[in-house]
This record gives sequence, structure tokens and C-alpha cells, in this order.
Amino acid sequence: MPQRLADLDANATEPLRPEARAAAIAALDLAGNPSSVHAEGRAARHLLEGAREHMAAALGIRPAQVHFTAGGTEANATAIAGLAHGRRVLVSATEHDAVRRAVADATILPVDGEGRLSLAALAEALADGASPALVCLMLANNETGTIQPIAEAAALCRRHGALLHVDAVQGPGRIPLGPALAVADTMALSAHKAGGAKGAGALLVLGEAVPAPLVRGGGQERGLRGGTEPLPAIAAMAAAIAAAEAWRQTGGAERLGRLKARIAAGVAAIPGVTIIAAGAGTLPNTLSLALTGAAAATQVMALDLAGIAVSAGAACSSGKVGESHVLAAMGLGPLAGQAIRVSLPWTATEAEVDAFLAAYAAMAARLARKAA
Ligand code: PLP
Repeated sequence: MPQRLADLDANATEPLRPEARAAAIAALDLAGNPSSVHAEGRAARHLLEGAREHMAAALGIRPAQVHFTAGGTEANATAIAGLAHGRRVLVSATEHDAVRRAVADATILPVDGEGRLSLAALAEALADGASPALVCLMLANNETGTIQPIAEAAALCRRHGALLHVDAVQGPGRIPLGPALAVADTMALSAHKAGGAKGAGALLVLGEAVPAPLVRGGGQERGLRGGTEPLPAIAAMAAAIAAAEAWRQTGGAERLGRLKARIAAGVAAIPGVTIIAAGAGTLPNTLSLALTGAAAATQVMALDLAGIAVSAGAACSSGKVGESHVLAAMGLGPLAGQAIRVSLPWTATEAEVDAFLAAYAAMAARLARKAA
């Protein structure tokens, strides 16, 4: 591995928060199964319900609305497949694959040049259909950070009797979830995007409609997700979400916003650089940077060798850098293959940002010389 100067790929996964580590370790020492009725089982159940209460309190919702899953992908899949029965599924063009691939025949709704859902297209699609709809709209995009008009979309959904599912995986610790929690029917969260451990997520059931389970098993999680609950990952998730939200509310997100502004100012003078979605409201930690003529994969590899971890497009299980469906949907043409995502973790420092800026400027100059 190259010597790491800066890991700026938080939207792929955030560094573990100490509160999450401590909670996971404590839970590992608990022997019981939360479904057992003996004392060990009751102790495990106590920890599980404590985690649920802790997370619900941090989000300002009721514990009974929290259903733990094995991650953000599963939470999205359960909500969408489980609510789709008899409903048309409408998804924005920039949704994560966890949403886009949750059902086979979803209708894709266009976005504008900044990646925001076209509300006119949503209104038209809702007015059009014979059957009621399920609309899936992310809180904020993982590649560009673009924040979606959730309140406006929710108003349209209400008018047309549609349900609204929000993939809020990139939200905790970065932007308030409250406005979306107030209007969504269901919401998906992921532990490791908030500084928890990988392999836990949550499906929040906020309205009257309850999704059918994907995994029935022993009926755990109020019948929504069968299977013995992974207590260490769940305990870590609750601790991480609570810590991330407290951190956001006490200046953490603003600090990241200042570091992001430092990057934007630092790259402004470099020829060929475009900041994607510069005109939209975006996550305080996320910056999508295109460099004209330079393939995204080349940039990611060059920066990796220089000690900087960033990514291009979504982290893909194959490890390949494909063309970004998000940037393509925004109508960016060739730039869709020439952008990297810089996403600041909660641990980011000025020194890391400056190391990135130095490596990025050197890379851009080298690639420009090669092209000349
Ligand atoms: N939704 C969004 C917006 C994401 O960025 C991701 C992960 O990259 C997911 C869903 C999937 O979450 P998980 O990795 O917990 O399955």
C-alpha cells in the first residue's frame, strides 16, 4: 500500500468512531441471543432495545420505527420491494444502485444539470399513471453531494397518493435528517457511512405503510427482517449515528464545509478543472471535480500513488471505475468519465486537504504536459 497522506473517500466508508468501537466491543462479550428467554437472552435483548432507543432518540423518532438490517442496500431493497406491491416505482436517475436495482421495472425520472430531480417530471409521472406510485428519492447523492428537494417531492407524493422512500445513507453527521424524517414514509440508513461498522443498517418505517419483509426467518425486527440480530454491528451503529449527529450539531459539519471550501479555492486556478454541481446545495464534505481530458481512473490511480485516496463514481464491488450514471444523467457528456469524488471524513484535517491540493496540482500539471 502507498504511504497514506490523506484518505478522502468518506462517502465509500467513514472511519470508525470511538463510540462505535467501544459499543461493538462491549456487545461482542455478550453471549446471549436476543430471542432467547433466559437471562443471557434477556441481557442481549436489553442491549438491542437500548441501541434502538439510543438511535431513535438521536433522530427524534420512536424506537418502534427503527428496524435494523444488514446494511443500507438491504434497507433500501426491503423498503422498495416490500412497498412496491401494486405500485409503480419511480426513481430519480441519480439514485444509488441499491435503489435503482431494487426492482426490475422502475421508471427513471430525469435530473437537472446539478443533479436535482425534475419536480415537473415527477408531477407529470404521478399524474399520468393508473396505479398509485412509490417514489424513491435520495437525501443527498453519494458522488456529487447534491441535496434533493425532498419536501417538494413529498408534497407532490401526498397530492397523488404516492409513498415516498428516502435513501438517506449519506446524510447522518452531515446534514439534518429532520425535514426528511417528517415527510418520508420510509428511510434507509447505513452504519458504516456514519462511522459505525460495516454490515448494519436501518429501515425506518415512518408512515402507515409497512413494507413486506425480504427475509422472513424467525420474524425478528417486528417481522420486517428475520435473522438473529448482529448485536456488535447494531450497537456500533446506534453509537455512531448518535455521535455523528451530536458532532454535526456542534460544529463538525461546518468545519468540514470550511475544508471543502479550501479545496474549491485551491483548485480554482488549475486549468481544465470544473466543480460539478457547484450551483446546488451539496453535502458539506463532498466535492466532485472534473479535469478535462483526464480519465477518472487515471486520476484516482495517480492520486493513490501520491498517497491520496479518492474515488471515481460509486465504489463498485468489482473495484473497476465505470462511467458514472450519476454524472451522465446530469448531461455532463465526456466530463462524466473525467470526474473524481473527494469526500472528507469526520477526521479530516487541514494538513490532509493541503496534501491533496499539492498532489492534485502536480497531477494536473503532469497530465497537461503529456497532452500538449
Ligand atoms: N445508498 C447510498 C446513497 C450509498 O452511497 C450506499 C453506499 O455506497 C448505499 C446506499 C449502500 O449502503 P451499504 O454499503 O450499507 O449497503
